Amino acid sequence: ETPLLIGRGLHKSFGSTPALRGADVAVAAGEVLAVMGPSGAGKSTLLHCLAGLIRPDAGDVVFEGRLVNRMPDRERSRLRRSVFGYVFQFGQLVPELRVLENIALPLLLAGKGRRTAFEAAGQWLPRLGLVDVGDRLAGEVSGGQGQRAAIARALIAKPRVVFADEPTGSLDTVAGDEVMELLVTAAKTEGAGVVVVTHESRVAAYADRQITVRDGRIVQPARAA
Ligand code: ADP
Ligand code: ADP
Repeated sequence: ETPLLIGRGLHKSFGSTPALRGADVAVAAGEVLAVMGPSGAGKSTLLHCLAGLIRPDAGDVVFEGRLVNRMPDRERSRLRRSVFGYVFQFGQLVPELRVLENIALPLLLAGKGRRTAFEAAGQWLPRLGLVDVGDRLAGEVSGGQGQRAAIARALIAKPRVVFADEPTGSLDTVAGDEVMELLVTAAKTEGAGVVVVTHESRVAAYADRQITVRDGRIVQPARAA
């Protein structure tokens, strides 16, 4: 079976600092991949290259047979909006918007009507334990609530690949577990590929497979238990 997303021979430097030095990685549909490794190893840079947020200096990123790194900017940003979902350490909700509006945002940006978008967003609230805070401003809810809303926002448009950079980094273990369970569910029920950067083995244990990045390369592609 052809992987959903492939990074091949990825190199990326920032000035004279090499961040990636020939990284190879592949993610299958329905697979949760954990990317581990020490601080500064190149994990975030790898994620940003795979996600089409930055271009590698050399190497290819292939999504469904298409070279993401060779796409014109407009096509690449269309891909980012339509088939990729993102979660960062701090949810990056729009604090001035209500929780429900934040979750609905990708559908509104995709041109769906307000009624459709808010109905779809509303269906996420009970699954996330957010029924009571849907109408609150995102800037006023707890970190765990905000991060669950950020996960819903990343998943609402049914992305083919979800990229999560330390998605549990700002959370306690209970909230972190809830976030990982949502990502695993997206992989198992929607067939999304999920790439999670983490330095916590508790978080990585949710993955189907773990890889370790060190000095810009993949070392020790160990199987998860
Ligand atoms: P990790 O996510 O594993 O902590 P990063 O991918 O963030 O590692 O960083 C890898 C290396 O690249 C580090 O030396 C880091 O300082 C450097 N780096 C990452 N992003 C930038 C940037 N935007 N500008 C300059 N250097 C960067
Ligand atoms: P980390 O702290 O996880 O290593 P950084 O904040 O250093 O990540 O970001 C590394 C690179 O990724 C920088 O060039 C930064 O501009 C870019 N970046 C970080 N967050 C985003 C984002 N949400 N969207 C686009 N680019 C981002």
